[in-house]
Amino acid sequence: MFDKVLIANRGEIALRVLRACKELGISTVAVHSTADADAMHVRLADESVCIGPPRAADSYLNIPTILAACEITGADAVHPGYGFLAENARFAEILEAHDIAFIGPSAEHITMMGDKIIAKETVKTLGIPVVPGSDGSVANGIEARKIADSIGYPVLIKASAGGGGRGMKVAGSAAELDEAFTTARAEARAAFGNDSVYIEKYLGSPRHIEVQVLGDGKGNGVHLYERDCSLQRRHQKVFEEALSPALNDAQRREIGETCAKAVQDLGYSGAGTVEFLYENGAFYFIEMNTRIQVEHPVTEAITGIDLINEQIKVAAGAELSLRQEDIVPSGHAIECRINAENPETFRPSPGTITYFHPPGGLGVRVDSGVYQGYTIPPYYDSLVGKLIVHGKNRNECLMRLKRALGEFVVGGIESTIPLFRRLLEEPDIVNGTYDIRWLERYLDRNAHDAAA
Ligand code: ADP
Repeated sequence: MFDKVLIANRGEIALRVLRACKELGISTVAVHSTADADAMHVRLADESVCIGPPRAADSYLNIPTILAACEITGADAVHPGYGFLAENARFAEILEAHDIAFIGPSAEHITMMGDKIIAKETVKTLGIPVVPGSDGSVANGIEARKIADSIGYPVLIKASAGGGGRGMKVAGSAAELDEAFTTARAEARAAFGNDSVYIEKYLGSPRHIEVQVLGDGKGNGVHLYERDCSLQRRHQKVFEEALSPALNDAQRREIGETCAKAVQDLGYSGAGTVEFLYENGAFYFIEMNTRIQVEHPVTEAITGIDLINEQIKVAAGAELSLRQEDIVPSGHAIECRINAENPETFRPSPGTITYFHPPGGLGVRVDSGVYQGYTIPPYYDSLVGKLIVHGKNRNECLMRLKRALGEFVVGGIESTIPLFRRLLEEPDIVNGTYDIRWLERYLDRNAHDAAA
């Protein structure tokens, strides 16, 4: 097992990793920018190293400085959290060259899944269903037209290096295709320095369903069932639940087993998420994330398995101790991402938290790096914390969530807590009948009502 883990991240996920390390008896090193000197993970870590100025490019993304922090402190492993360097294959390779373990999959698997075209081709050979579309990248408008005509409109043009919903354009008809194609390419070039794009059938009202997997790189692999993350704004997840209210047990078992088998066949090591769109009973692979995800706690709540603990053990060379038959989901869990934003305009609201009263009680978990008196810096994402609630069934979970949101007080800044309170009054949320475009429609409607 590792002696000392350096946590190359900030905020709630840095704290989450720190907690897992402490419970394994591993020493922790926090790294932080000058803007994060007062952060909770820095206070609670055994050691801390300042790695640069606020701008992420100069601190949390600065590989040479993070490497130096490992050498100075004698850390024998790095946990990257999510975002920042979590899916940077070069970082994993450089650590390995310095005999420092990267708590994540191999550089080869990160690279494979980081290129969406290669990822799609690879999973197809592993028996995972994909969205109909082009075989690989599309060179020009003429080729785009041929493919779009054959799969039928509407189509979606996507960047192969894509992320965060950027470089995606819908074309509703042949007349819109040329412009959509050119814009998607230009956006992809600007955002990722790579203008390779591909085409997919555009699904009208799918759900976003993703399967959590774990592998040990030695041929063992399991799935930990699915999360439903259909409630999204600008392709960003807002509210996630496990299990999905849309699947029956047979569908759930089938997609889970397909993903677990793929993990075994790939020799994949660590935690990963296979993301699908789901429409009319069919699954369509969109991407695989080779890291821990923001919404991992809902899976932990229904399975009782500490995913970060499993990541660390596997990275240290252990065989996966979990067997598929031991993973039995129980009850229902929901997570709300509480952001420091205006709950109507979503304008960021950084500043000092003058009052912080998180909810508690049975089945309630709050993962947050903030505290009363803490100042949210303006340089990073606006996540204040995650509220995760578990209940015996979906109904109990919703009632508990409503109760917990009623107790939650964050003062001094604006937060999205009031949005979640409103959402829980909506019949579609209560009944679980929503797709990936539901939230945007709801927000549009409310904006119009407010203007009228
Ligand atoms: P990114 O890596 O940029 O987040 P994804 O491939 O994960 O890109 O897609 C992000 C989101 O875009 C999905 O969650 C879904 O909301 C939407 N999306 C992606 N592919 C399709 C498609 N073929 N049809 C309709 N919506 C899609």
